[in-house]
Amino acid sequence: MAASKLFKQLKAKPPRDLDAVVHGLHEEAFRKVDCLECANCCKTTGPLWTDRDRERVAKHLGMKTAAFEAQYLRVDEDKDWVLQQLPCPFLGTDNYCSIYDVRPKACREYPHTDRVKQHQILHLTEKNAAICPAVDHIVQRMEALYLKAQPSSASEQQSRGRHKRR
Ligand code: SF4
Ligand code: SF4
Repeated sequence: MAASKLFKQLKAKPPRDLDAVVHGLHEEAFRKVDCLECANCCKTTGPLWTDRDRERVAKHLGMKTAAFEAQYLRVDEDKDWVLQQLPCPFLGTDNYCSIYDVRPKACREYPHTDRVKQHQILHLTEKNAAICPAVDHIVQRMEALYLKAQPSSASEQQSRGRHKRR
């Protein structure tokens, strides 16, 4: 698959212009993709909840942090706080987030394609291409820009497992 070949190449030797290219493609992608018509991240991969996230959202909802955690969250196998259920219970049927102003840091920062040091999160970008149409657009454009012409291997498979957002 072209995407796995791209990421293998980028991880082996990250281009110097990687941040500038990804940031430009991020702007381009989000001019095309409307999150309110998508919400796939909120439906399929809940965020990781930091201490501050849990305290802030609980306070916003007028709940004690412990009661909020008991109602909405669980601790996963990595000892991270995650949602008990997906889609996220704060996602409305209109795809609006009911706690948007106080949403978790991981939700604010997703899909991370506007942050610096993109070479450090290539594994995340590769996974997120299967979840987020904006990242998929970015990756397709990166393939056109960076991928050296090589015969593809039928055995290459992209990991598309569910994961939480950091
Ligand atoms: S998956 Fe990507 S495009 Fe869809 S709502 Fe989330 S950030 Fe927006
Ligand atoms: S808290 Fe809001 S932005 Fe985050 S997953 Fe839930 S609905 Fe989406």
